Amino acid sequence: MIKDMLENKRTVSFEIFPPKKDGEFKAVFEVLDALGRLSPDFVSVTYGAGGSRSGKTIEIASYIQNTLGIDAIAHMTCVGSTKDALLSVTQALREKDVTHILALRGDRPRDMSDEQFASRAFAHASDMMDFLRENTDLCMGGACYPEKHFESFSMESDLNNLKKKQDAGAKYFISQMFFDNDYYYSFLEKAGKKGITAPICAGIMPITSAKQLGTTITLSGSSIPKALSDLVAAYGDSSEDMRKAGIDYAIRQILDLRENGVNGIHIYTMNKAKMAAEIMAAL
Ligand code: FAD
Repeated sequence: MIKDMLENKRTVSFEIFPPKKDGEFKAVFEVLDALGRLSPDFVSVTYGAGGSRSGKTIEIASYIQNTLGIDAIAHMTCVGSTKDALLSVTQALREKDVTHILALRGDRPRDMSDEQFASRAFAHASDMMDFLRENTDLCMGGACYPEKHFESFSMESDLNNLKKKQDAGAKYFISQMFFDNDYYYSFLEKAGKKGITAPICAGIMPITSAKQLGTTITLSGSSIPKALSDLVAAYGDSSEDMRKAGIDYAIRQILDLRENGVNGIHIYTMNKAKMAAEIMAAL
């Protein structure tokens, strides 16, 4: 069980995503084979918010679980989903022996009308967890946000909602990416005071190109410390130097987390196996 692993030992795990284009799908299995050789403790697979490509998440999670023999977590979002649709995904996962999911609300898809959004079957991830706890025996984890979720008006209310996810059955959490470890340490302390006892894995996103700061990071709402923006200013124009500096920054972040007793590290690999290998070698 991933929960037991996270509670009892140091772990390094990876996140990967199913490519958007069918033509790129085959290549993802080569990436998976390469990631598998790095012996991560588990690998999580993202899911499109509307669930339209859930089959790809299932296929990849099954490959990780059954072919590579590594524990897989399939992400699942509920924002655009009916109860029946959700159950058909969980059944398909069960048939492939994938028993871990990261239960997420997801972001509102652009083509979802106000009416559809207001009448969605599950308002929050905790509602989905309540439903899945009652209807399946999957082991669930959830997302958390060291700098608070962008819709929350305060950290306090976000943490109260995190506690609802734990009460609804979340056995562990994986954090949003952060680039300043102090946010994470402060978050752990506040979460502890709120009664969050489930292990919280630290989400680390290596910044290997200047472009990432404008896209992924803006969407995540994570703040950029001066040390990282200085690095992008210095190396952003040279792709290889930027790549090396970004990986080095992530390694330093992870080593600092470990020195401070953080056991669970989840690397957002962006499907870059070479980058993951360099990080693992340094650890
Ligand atoms: P929730 O837990 O529902 O929280 C959303 C907001 O509602 C928060 O502000 C929260 O405070 C509030 N809230 C929660 N519960 C309640 C409640 N009971 N009452 C009132 N307010 C409440 N997106 C994808 O589309 N696919 C993925 O694969 C994916 N993977 C992710 C993995 C990780 C580790 C993380 C951190 C995020 C991931 N996301 C993914 C993004 C995620 O879907 C978005 O951040 C989304 O906006 C929130 O999802 P959530 O599950 O945290 O939602």
